[in-house]
Amino acid sequence: MSDSAPPESPPPPPKPLPAPEEITRKLEDFIKNSLGGQVIFSHIEPHDLGTRASESGDSDAPPEEADKDRRASFEFHHKPADIKAHLDRYVIRQDEAKKVLATAVCDHYHHARMIRENEEREGAEPLELSKQNVIITGPTGVGKTYLVKHIADLVGVPFVKADATKFSETGYVGADVDDLVRDLVAKANGNVELAEHGIIYLDEIDKIATGGEGRLGRDVSGRGVQTALLKLMEETEVPLYAQNDFRSQMKMMFDMRQGRNNGREVVNTRNILFIVSGAFSGIEKIIEKRQARATIGFGATLAEKPSTEDLLRQATTRDFIDYGFEAEFIGRLPVRVFCDPLKAEDLFQIMKNSAGSLIRQYEREFHAYGVRALFQDDALRLVAARAAEEKTGARGLVTAWEKVLRDFKFELPSLGLLEMVIDAALITDPEAALARCRLEAEKLKIDVRAEEVSSFAANFAQQTGFSLDFEPAAIAALVQRAQREGSSIPALCSRLFKDFAFGLQLISRNTGQMRYQLNQAAVESPERYLSDLVVNSYRQPAPSAPAFPDTHAS
Ligand code: ADP
Repeated sequence: MSDSAPPESPPPPPKPLPAPEEITRKLEDFIKNSLGGQVIFSHIEPHDLGTRASESGDSDAPPEEADKDRRASFEFHHKPADIKAHLDRYVIRQDEAKKVLATAVCDHYHHARMIRENEEREGAEPLELSKQNVIITGPTGVGKTYLVKHIADLVGVPFVKADATKFSETGYVGADVDDLVRDLVAKANGNVELAEHGIIYLDEIDKIATGGEGRLGRDVSGRGVQTALLKLMEETEVPLYAQNDFRSQMKMMFDMRQGRNNGREVVNTRNILFIVSGAFSGIEKIIEKRQARATIGFGATLAEKPSTEDLLRQATTRDFIDYGFEAEFIGRLPVRVFCDPLKAEDLFQIMKNSAGSLIRQYEREFHAYGVRALFQDDALRLVAARAAEEKTGARGLVTAWEKVLRDFKFELPSLGLLEMVIDAALITDPEAALARCRLEAEKLKIDVRAEEVSSFAANFAQQTGFSLDFEPAAIAALVQRAQREGSSIPALCSRLFKDFAFGLQLISRNTGQMRYQLNQAAVESPERYLSDLVVNSYRQPAPSAPAFPDTHAS
């Protein structure tokens, strides 16, 4: 036993530093615990501090491209008719909406340019801009978003879509309306000038109408959201980095260090175009009442009851106010247009003629597996009729097709068919059509295999001088056996008929027979089959002269 003190244990190795994500999370936890809900955290990923994530997707441009994008300035040189022609390629019907939107967009961007040029001229009188913000009314799935998206694509401005229901006036209960503007900057790859000419599209705007039906939840006041949006629609400066958002502030520091924000800290909303939309169900009653009041006392006889569409087309500022909008809010949306509901014939045209047709998408999906999908008009008409019943506009088409094509999309890639005809019969009974495809695929396999059997027979004839004729049942049996044993047809034939060259020589010596027909039994038990033939040949008289009669061996 030693009386010396036990050796001191070595100091523990220093703890490795946590990852940056871990540090961010800990900081967030700390701030949340000490300040509660006063500071919020957006859903931005720490590694993405260079660009803010937007609802509609992030920028994925490489860094040099992104830097170039950030500096590019916005130019506009379109005429309403060009825009409409572009929309005509994608959007079926909605002619009135196309014209009104195309004109509003051109007016908006030309005005914006004129005002900018005017400001650059020294001593010029300031020009007034009355913004052409738009309300689109109409049912769901009829192309409202689709129109706006294609306009933004053509004009080359960022486009952000959100549901008005997700906002609250403070940003604490719901999302902050200012985030829409910051999302535009993200969509514009950080190019603030381009973002300042972007399009903000707010759907379900009817849900922030106040009164009457109490359209929003208890905590969220429709009026408050209207006021917050009104500020954006007029003219305001939105901080590029949300002040109460920790991550946004981190992004600011990051951008400043990289020299990315070109000294900009705010985004001006003067030239941002706002387009809002909603179904506005119930407004037709308000319109109808107003019209009825106007006719009373003039001795007018009420004409035939107008349709809901006709009524919606005639909506006035007063009707929107009665519906639950602030006068100032609705006053900032001077352009109004109605999108028509889509009938079965329109849905057919969408599939047949729209450049963005779902059918082209399905064709591409099947083509990826080498299958040519041939969509017939009778099938499109049936699906259009089914989709129209759903009353969800063109959205019903996706539902209707998915139901029909689900099993085909799963099974067809493995069947090896080169073509599939999608006709009315397939729509009516997809299961039976799929069964037919399976049969056809089997047949196709048999045809291919039959060729392989023929080429085996040709080789055999060349090497031995004997002709083998395989009956269809023999070919089918060969195909099945090859499949069962995981063998190729040539390998299987070589194995099954390896003794045939010798056996047939014996027979031909006895009978002179050079041609043999092989049946199913020949494939199932080739040895027995050959030995029976040999035994029988000894019972037959020898040929008097060389002859090659056809003999049915079975
Ligand atoms: P909403 O009117 O509710 O905004 P969308 O514009 O989002 O409907 O339409 C959903 C999808 O349906 C679009 O992406 C588009 O593929 C198709 N679609 C809707 N309306 C039309 C139309 N009139 N022409 C062509 N495609 C349309």
